[in-house]
Amino acid sequence: MDEQEKTEAPEPQSGPSYECVRCGRRVEFQELERYISFRCPFCGYRIFRKVRAPIVKHIKAI
Ligand SMILES: [Zn+2]
Repeated sequence: MDEQEKTEAPEPQSGPSYECVRCGRRVEFQELERYISFRCPFCGYRIFRKVRAPIVKHIKAI
């Protein structure tokens, strides 16, 4: 596994959290904004994967 997803431009919506791909810590975007160059406050890694907070299950209720 050698996937590397660079942090894309922040969305106007304040919502998605980011998960460090190295240590797996989840950091909210507002937290990341504090740090220069989007570095993980825990391990210093700079690659994050976007994580959607609420997982919506698609349930057909027909
Ligand atoms: Zn980290």
